[in-house]
Amino acid sequence: MAARHLIIGGGTAGINAIRTIREEERERSEITLVSAERPYSRMVLPYFLDRSIAESHVYTATPRILAEWGVKSHVGRRATSLDPKGNVVTLDDGTKLEYDDCMIATGSSAVRAPVAGADGANVHSFWTLDEAKGVIAGIAPGSHVVMVGAGFISFTILNSILSLGAKLTIVEIAPRILPRMVDGPGAELVEKWLEKHGVTIRTGATVSAIEDVKGKPGTPARKRIKFARGAKGGDIIADVVIMATGIKTNLDWLKDSGLRIDRGIVVDSHLRSNAPNVYAAGDVAQGPDLIAGGTSIHAIEPTAQEHGRVVGANMAGKDVQYRGSVIINIVEVCHLDVASFGAWDDTTAEVISASRPDRPAYRKMLFRGDRMTGAIILGPSSDIWTTNDVGMLKGLVQTGQPLGQFKERLRQQPFDVKTAFIAAKTTARLLPETVVGRPSKAPGDTPVAV
Ligand SMILES: Cc1cc2nc3c(=O)[nH]c(=O)nc-3n(C[C@H](O)[C@H](O)[C@H](O)COP(=O)(O)OP(=O)(O)OC[C@H]3O[C@@H](n4cnc5c(N)ncnc54)[C@H](O)[C@@H]3O)c2cc1C
Repeated sequence: MAARHLIIGGGTAGINAIRTIREEERERSEITLVSAERPYSRMVLPYFLDRSIAESHVYTATPRILAEWGVKSHVGRRATSLDPKGNVVTLDDGTKLEYDDCMIATGSSAVRAPVAGADGANVHSFWTLDEAKGVIAGIAPGSHVVMVGAGFISFTILNSILSLGAKLTIVEIAPRILPRMVDGPGAELVEKWLEKHGVTIRTGATVSAIEDVKGKPGTPARKRIKFARGAKGGDIIADVVIMATGIKTNLDWLKDSGLRIDRGIVVDSHLRSNAPNVYAAGDVAQGPDLIAGGTSIHAIEPTAQEHGRVVGANMAGKDVQYRGSVIINIVEVCHLDVASFGAWDDTTAEVISASRPDRPAYRKMLFRGDRMTGAIILGPSSDIWTTNDVGMLKGLVQTGQPLGQFKERLRQQPFDVKTAFIAAKTTARLLPETVVGRPSKAPGDTPVAV
């Protein structure tokens, strides 16, 4: 078994791998962590933004905890190259670290659309803790915040921005919002709902420039957002601009490594790259896709967690195959739940869809034969059946249980998912499923605080 494990990246995948190594190993190994940032969870940043949690709650492992776990850490340092033949990683201060096996989990970074002025003052991204702090410093009650990009990240921070008392406008280049999360009818419903809740939305609008508005000396510069010719509406004046225009994987440092990189680091069912003692996990890993087959990048928290645990177990000497990840997108905006799972955009699948005339509720279920392969669901968070059905539809897609006659029942009664879920024995299939071949351990049963 490998004795020196090197983990590059201290985000969700990295920390899950470290914890799992300590849980699974027979003998104490040497673990070294290299991470450009202190370990924290990006997913909780919306709650830091609206001040419902303190900065200390954002961190997933403090220096003291890392020391307790027996992890040698190089926090604040970047890996700059990997030599898989020599088993060496070089850091930005010239340090060379040798390893027996290594896991790459360097995640993603926000990318700003190439617009003049997108790098100016009061124009932010929202991906890292530092970027979140920049946004917090810029917003005061009454501020006008403009978010460029109506995708998942904008929607995860939308409630927080409104709760800070800001006025919000969302600008999107595509003809509709959430183009990578829901279909046209779903997007229309969410758009109407948000407009009812005071959010201004401008779709089909290409930002051409972001300029400073001249104000009184000493006051923060307001921003003028200009649009390409043909866009409806005039310029928009904002106090804060957030560019939520996409992310890219942090892989540039591996360009000379010889690792097989497609859209991400291509990994096998054990999450190993083409260098057998180099694993990849989380947003950078192009790993097994449970629903579509083949490999995909699912840049989401559950995939990073599961990848980290599978790699950690394999590094600790177990033989764990990963069953594959399922794309899961869930957000709640102004008390409307919006979710999609699996192959929700498969244009060749059989579809059952329905909406309710009396409330903002829409759902679409996609099938291959009698198995559900994808779903979209929208509904008020106050309706208990919305919340329940979000979980049950996810379970049906994840397990792919055959529904037999209950598929037809769903066609007749699309708002009754429970009957099909129970009849297909979905819970019985889900309950014994584990990521690393055993149930999770409770805090206290493990050598580290889990
Ligand atoms: C605001 C926000 C909300 C989100 N909400 C959700 C949600 O609700 N649900 C969901 O599923 N997902 C959500 N996500 C996405 C989720 O956070 C990511 O998918 C997840 O963090 C990926 O984990 P990771 O370990 O692959 O990478 P990361 O968590 O990004 O960690 C990567 C680590 O690598 C470090 N690093 C980068 N380059 C180097 C280098 N060269 N050398 C050393 N270290 C390096 C980084 O500093 C970082 O510590 C959200 C993301 C954001 C920003």
